[in-house]
Amino acid sequence: MTKPAGHHVDTACPLDCPDSCSLKVSIENGRLTTIDGGDHNPTTNGYICAKVRRFGDRVYGADRLMRPGFRVGPPGSGVFEWVSWDDALGRVAEAMLTAKARFGAESVLPYFYGGSNGLLSQDTTDARLFRRFGASRLARTLCASATGAASQGLYGKMPSVAYQDYVHARLIVVWGANPSASGIHLVPYIRQAQKHGAALVVIDPRSTPLARLADLHLPIRPGSDLAVALAMHKHLFDTGRAAAPFLEAHTTGADRLRERAQEWTVARAADLAGVPEADLQRLAELYADASPALIRCGWGLERNRNGGGAVAAILALPAVGGKFGVRGGGFTLSNSSAWSITKTWIDQDEPDTRLVNMNHLGRMLTEPVEPPVKVLFVYNCNPLATVPHQNLVRRGLEREDLVTIVFDQVLTDTARYADIVLPATTFVEQYDFARAYGPISLQLTRPVIDPVGEARPNVDVFAELEERLGLAREGEPRDEIEMMLRVMGELPHGAGVALQEGTRAVPDFGPTPVQFVDVFPRTPDRKAHLFPEELEREAPMGLYRYQPDPGTAQYPLALLSPSSEKTISSSLAELVKQPAALVIHPDDARPRHLEEGNAVRIFNDLGEVRCVASITPTVRPGTVSLPKGLWSRHTQNGSTANALAPDTLTDLGAGACFNDARVQVEKIAEDTSGIGDSGLGIGSPTVAPPAPNRIH
Ligand code: SF4
Repeated sequence: MTKPAGHHVDTACPLDCPDSCSLKVSIENGRLTTIDGGDHNPTTNGYICAKVRRFGDRVYGADRLMRPGFRVGPPGSGVFEWVSWDDALGRVAEAMLTAKARFGAESVLPYFYGGSNGLLSQDTTDARLFRRFGASRLARTLCASATGAASQGLYGKMPSVAYQDYVHARLIVVWGANPSASGIHLVPYIRQAQKHGAALVVIDPRSTPLARLADLHLPIRPGSDLAVALAMHKHLFDTGRAAAPFLEAHTTGADRLRERAQEWTVARAADLAGVPEADLQRLAELYADASPALIRCGWGLERNRNGGGAVAAILALPAVGGKFGVRGGGFTLSNSSAWSITKTWIDQDEPDTRLVNMNHLGRMLTEPVEPPVKVLFVYNCNPLATVPHQNLVRRGLEREDLVTIVFDQVLTDTARYADIVLPATTFVEQYDFARAYGPISLQLTRPVIDPVGEARPNVDVFAELEERLGLAREGEPRDEIEMMLRVMGELPHGAGVALQEGTRAVPDFGPTPVQFVDVFPRTPDRKAHLFPEELEREAPMGLYRYQPDPGTAQYPLALLSPSSEKTISSSLAELVKQPAALVIHPDDARPRHLEEGNAVRIFNDLGEVRCVASITPTVRPGTVSLPKGLWSRHTQNGSTANALAPDTLTDLGAGACFNDARVQVEKIAEDTSGIGDSGLGIGSPTVAPPAPNRIH
């Protein structure tokens, strides 16, 4: 399938980013040369992010896994003896069958997330295999779990306002999102709206690029979003600006929401959030008065103990304020459910086996559980870099009696601990379906080059493993082409036909639906439930009830670990050459005698991170920030922000509470013992520096 010289292929980006850009990939002599924006997706038309422009550096980079391997060095060394696929899958099957015979099938734990986010590379033959085998199930709660629970409870995951409709808004509130780093195609629409006179408000503890262009920036304390949203509700109700006819016709539960909001005066919420009362008052008035008014609700605000309630309160604002029913009014959260793809494409029901919350991987691997986890099968995921309580996860991966299998494109931090590594294809070497969750789009991802080395697609490898385990059945899709055709044939809204014909797939309600005109809540009564009883039962203190800040005198600083423009969670972090820097406000740096570039130790009872300080007022005082998704090579001691993140859970959805990390920071002597080892200008005294793929 090698393409002729000078060829280019239209495809789409399936990575875990809201936008799903259409791409134009150039190939010369069978080698990928450039990746640029394509013109099939009108929302992302023609431009893409810098990280995917450089995707060829992953495809052909030094960290790429080229062959299956068995680890020969100690756990974490990343030293492998390269073997054949036959040997590798033979050993995987043997490990799974041995664990099943001795401890039961639930002692096998599949572990996966959005590293390869398309519809084919996850929940197809992999799900079929693990369901039939009877393995433990995984609750995929690392991200979007609290937002998903709130969105499901209030609106049954009603489709969101499309990026294109932002130009119609008179007020845009960007809440807990940084589109300049993630979902970049929203930015020009917001800028266009501003040119047409729209006011922009940004609510974020950091001074993001859009915050610097906003009419009003509220740098609230992490975890205080719930109080701010409830104060806005109280203002709407108390000033007679709640939309009574809309609430009567289209909602339930407004009275109970109003009751819970009563305690949150603007003054009290502003005090808790650490912002001037006048600024919060201005936001409340702007929102009450403006129409069309839009809220872009991000995922930053869910990552704390109050995250689910906060998202629910924010999503309830357009209903109480009467902002629906007009183009450019309502909210944008995730559009991943817009296509109503609720099924998997396999003929195998989910068994009632043990359900493991992925945020508790460290506990599952280190605490006495029955049955113990004996085989950990990681794919599309790099848990050592992405899961809370990193040191516990690391300790688990060091267990001598655990067989860890990592099926990935590159030698990640987790892969260095694997007993068996399997090389996976990237999205330029396989088929997939790219479903956006910002804009409403669904596109086909095509292979544009032959697989590099011996890399293979997920669908094929799990199907072969099924055969080796005696779980394959006649007539089922067994490779990615067969599975791709199965998925295409069953996509809703006629999307499969459009993709086959090469035209644009558009859902029945159109690409830019107006909420409560073209789309309605997908609840049984098509109403918005502003106080769902199931959420009231689930939240530890009840829905819309604030849980206090976990900060202490010992650990007073809130640590954020936000997305950066350099990685997609931890994907592509192998290409980040700069060492990590802790962003700290001058008011917090001064009493700690810190100067720009000083080496610092960030610590709490869970662990410590050693890196340099970057002193800037772009975070609010009392809050520090380290990027999400870094690898061990980016810090001086091999730990990243997740070493400081507790594995406590959000009030709704049992999601991760990364932003509940509370820490102390102190200056340390410069450690130069490892400089040069990693090639990044930073040392690594306690963790082995990244080694190249060694061949034995
Ligand atoms: S990561 Fe996002 S912005 Fe970058 S190419 Fe993919 S979809 Fe586009």
